[in-house]
Amino acid sequence: GCGHGRSKVDYEQLRQLLLDTPSSKKAEEWQRYYTAGPHLAGKNYSQALWTKEKWEEFGVQSHIVDYEVYINYPVDHRLALLNKDESHSDKWKVSFEATLEEDILDEDPSTSLPERVPVFHGYSASGNVTAPVVYVNYGTYQDFDDLLKANVSLAGKIAIARYGLIFRGLKVKRAQELGMIGVILYSDPGDDGEMTEENGYTPYPEGPARQPSSVQRGSTQFLSVAPGDPTTPGYPSKPGVPRGPVDGAIPSIPSIPISYAEALPILKALNGHGPKAADFNKWWTHQTGLGYKGVDYNIGPTPDEVVVNLYNEQDYVTTPLWNVIGIINGTIPDEVIVIGNHRDAWVAGGAGDPNSGSAVLNEVIRSFGEALKLGWKPLRTIVFASWDGEEYGLIGSTEWVEEYLPWLSAANVAYLNIDVGVRGKVFSASAAPLLNGIIYAATGAVESPDHPGHSILEKNWDKKITTMGSGSDFTAFQDFAGIPSLDVGFNAGKDDPVYHYHSNYDSFYWMKKYGDPGFVYHRTMAQIFGLLIAELVDLPVLAFSAESYATALDGYVTQVEDKLDAALHSPKDEEIDISTLTEQAISELRGRHYNTSNTVITPASSKAALALRDSFKRLHDAVGKLTEKAARLDAEAEDLKSQARKHIPWYHWHQKVKLWYRIRKVNTKYKYIERSFLFSEGLDGRPWFKHVVFAPGLWTGYSGAVFPGLVENIDARDWTNAERWVDIIDACIGNAARKL
Ligand code: GLU
Ligand code: CA
Ligand code: ZN
Ligand code: ZN
Repeated sequence: GCGHGRSKVDYEQLRQLLLDTPSSKKAEEWQRYYTAGPHLAGKNYSQALWTKEKWEEFGVQSHIVDYEVYINYPVDHRLALLNKDESHSDKWKVSFEATLEEDILDEDPSTSLPERVPVFHGYSASGNVTAPVVYVNYGTYQDFDDLLKANVSLAGKIAIARYGLIFRGLKVKRAQELGMIGVILYSDPGDDGEMTEENGYTPYPEGPARQPSSVQRGSTQFLSVAPGDPTTPGYPSKPGVPRGPVDGAIPSIPSIPISYAEALPILKALNGHGPKAADFNKWWTHQTGLGYKGVDYNIGPTPDEVVVNLYNEQDYVTTPLWNVIGIINGTIPDEVIVIGNHRDAWVAGGAGDPNSGSAVLNEVIRSFGEALKLGWKPLRTIVFASWDGEEYGLIGSTEWVEEYLPWLSAANVAYLNIDVGVRGKVFSASAAPLLNGIIYAATGAVESPDHPGHSILEKNWDKKITTMGSGSDFTAFQDFAGIPSLDVGFNAGKDDPVYHYHSNYDSFYWMKKYGDPGFVYHRTMAQIFGLLIAELVDLPVLAFSAESYATALDGYVTQVEDKLDAALHSPKDEEIDISTLTEQAISELRGRHYNTSNTVITPASSKAALALRDSFKRLHDAVGKLTEKAARLDAEAEDLKSQARKHIPWYHWHQKVKLWYRIRKVNTKYKYIERSFLFSEGLDGRPWFKHVVFAPGLWTGYSGAVFPGLVENIDARDWTNAERWVDIIDACIGNAARKL
């Protein structure tokens, strides 16, 4: 076909190779290597070198790109429960001292590796605080709001929150904003699905339930402000660059992660103090978890005679980290596909996070290497990346995107991410709508390991593709550079063994025994990933669907419109006469409504609110025009696809050239659609985030918000600023339509 003149392997042969080459045995071999060495950002140079050498062995030229970044390593810590001694009223007795260690298990060698990492939080603040404790549920914005409404005293107290639902750094952020002085995060088995001890399952390593001493490490940076090195927002952390202050990007209060075994004494100390979670709304008790262990889930605070001492010492350094970059040059110079996975991990093992992804990526690269050996020459350039420093805050990928932004803006067609490639059997995907189609195509062409003769699409997936939020290395590509991105993995379903996220028990032994015995899902993921890449790099006409994007946009407009309608009809904020309120009450109201600007709360029935409602018509119109043009572009692309499949004899070279020019034109249009949605000033209060359609939710972090600028201002009842966002979005959609 067209453009394939120089490749000795055609598209169908390439696909077959990408399905046939990945092997479970090899994936297991890579897993064995990656789960046995030092992983922490800035401490994994040997693994960076090994990765580079492997990729070169596979036939892909590779190099290491380094940055100097500001991160922390743990030095010392303590967590204890203290009681005032009744006989000597000035003396404190230690009633419980946490070990802050995960148990060493004879069966699982990862748990005794010399490189194992103490439990700590990335970017947590050093400090030594002692205070009564308050149970804050998941520590979501809404949870804290409920506590404020119930007049639970928060300022000066230490929070104990369960992990889950939102990015952990945002729990610490909100606690800090409300004057709390420390945060304890624990893993409640109530969030573990079906395979819990309470339901009769044995804990790891004998069974699939959570190991009671398991601890989730992780970063507590304020993800929604900006990812990457917090001292260099927007530009690369090269040696010697000027660095800004970190205030506002990382916590100033100490925090520590603990196991449920060690949370028990603290939660029980709360029994009988303050309201019960059950007295709150349903939300607070939908997963209780430790009731069977005698926890009543009282909110507290504990009385002044019962306090927690939280001591945390972190060493902050500026240290090198290493991305490995491998390149297969294509024949089209300005159409590049970037594929990435992070290499750093919190723990010595990290079989799921990230090494399942790393093993998959190696199998994918090995497969493309086989194609190269047979004389395959891709149309588009492929860049493979093994990122460092993801865990602290997507650092390696963000710094790289910041460094190569001009080139990526001009040439990067798509970014494909794989992080935890396998932790269960349930396929899951998030993607920019332009890429939806290739995910259905790839999963439809790969067999399900548990259902021979049926595909992953049929058997392992609910076929839902979520919008891009954050929490992995696609963030800088999607939200900063406007490059359509996707992220895939096999997740743990409710009935899958419990995955010990960021714990020593995310180990080779766990993966082989529970996560993916036989490493068959590793192989399957390598096949899916290979096909996704093939579809993007080796078809003359880009496999994008512009109409999917337009349709999705229309859905998002409706979604936000519904949200606005709900706000307009909710009596909650009607007729708030702020002249009757104290300064403090006003500022609390603002805080509660995520208000980032300085405007006051306006009643929902105001003129400005109704004008905003009207302006949604403009957005629907703009999307309507975009849809028409998008449909025309897709139709042209379909036509070109069928022409490109036809054989054109060499003596009709002029016909070939003409076709090729038309294809180039269509591809260039596809390439820049996503860029049209970048707004150079960025979102209110977080200017690093440039995309007007997608961003991590301000108070969720992991899950995505659509039209974040608009939504945040509706939440804040700031109708005037919301109107400004309608204008910005309208202009972006118009711009996108014009360029089609
Ligand atoms: N995957 C990491 C986590 O969820 C990302 C850290 C970050 O975005 O700061 O902890
Ligand atoms: Ca930076
Ligand atoms: Zn990860
Ligand atoms: Zn992680």
